[in-house]
Amino acid sequence: MNTDASALPIDTDAAQVLREWLRPHRRVFVLTGAGISTDSGIPHYRDESGAWQRKPPIDFRAFVGDARARARYWARSFVGWPGFASARPNAGHTALARWQQRDDAHTLVTQNVDGLHARAGSRDVVDLHGRLDEVVCLDCGARRARECLQAELAQRNPDWRDLGAAALPDGDADLEGLAFERFATPVCEHCGGLIKPDVVFFGENVPRARVAAAQQALAQADAMLVVGSSLMVYSGFRFARAAREAGLPLALLNRGVTRADDIATLKLQADCGATLQAALG
Ligand SMILES: [Zn+2]
Repeated sequence: MNTDASALPIDTDAAQVLREWLRPHRRVFVLTGAGISTDSGIPHYRDESGAWQRKPPIDFRAFVGDARARARYWARSFVGWPGFASARPNAGHTALARWQQRDDAHTLVTQNVDGLHARAGSRDVVDLHGRLDEVVCLDCGARRARECLQAELAQRNPDWRDLGAAALPDGDADLEGLAFERFATPVCEHCGGLIKPDVVFFGENVPRARVAAAQQALAQADAMLVVGSSLMVYSGFRFARAAREAGLPLALLNRGVTRADDIATLKLQADCGATLQAALG
């Protein structure tokens, strides 16, 4: 790693380093991950070593092929949704949105499914892994707001309404040992088909058009900044690798190790929100 600025203990120092690093660049490709949303109360899947903190999330094959796994997913989603939906953008989201409004100097690609960048005012966000606030039918493609579905789930599952479970990433809730098969799972209101949140599950590919949009943004960029991601998922890491292959400087703002530490030109281990606010303000 080519840096003398790693492991800075004070956010203001990290912010100053980041501000200087950004200064010569006209178009920065920004990739954000879970670490930017933890200050909004959305917990992180991985610890600082990049390892799973909990059981990994459901994969696509289990969701489609296993009714009990699907019921478990929806039950957890139902209980976790209100906490997830009430999350608000934090200083990091706001700083990025204001930077874009002021300088139009970056494009924003996120691995998060919380929609908080858009809510903070960022435009043209590439939601690499989709958004949790919509559901889509796997058969007819009909879309529906997740919020509407919540009301239906509540009506059909009155016994599950008052379970106070700890919020988990992706609007999930921790509900082990319950009779998930008793949870009434939703189907498409048009065709009766399987519906699923419009997010990329493990075992699914990011839709091609979305990857292309991100690649196009990267091709026009003169630097890349990663915020709050360990880049353990290939769909994000590939952009860091592509940036370096294209000779772009690569800065990482993340507490803990990332998969791109050895190819980065700057690594800052500091708080995402406070650092962005101070560096971009
Ligand atoms: Zn349908």
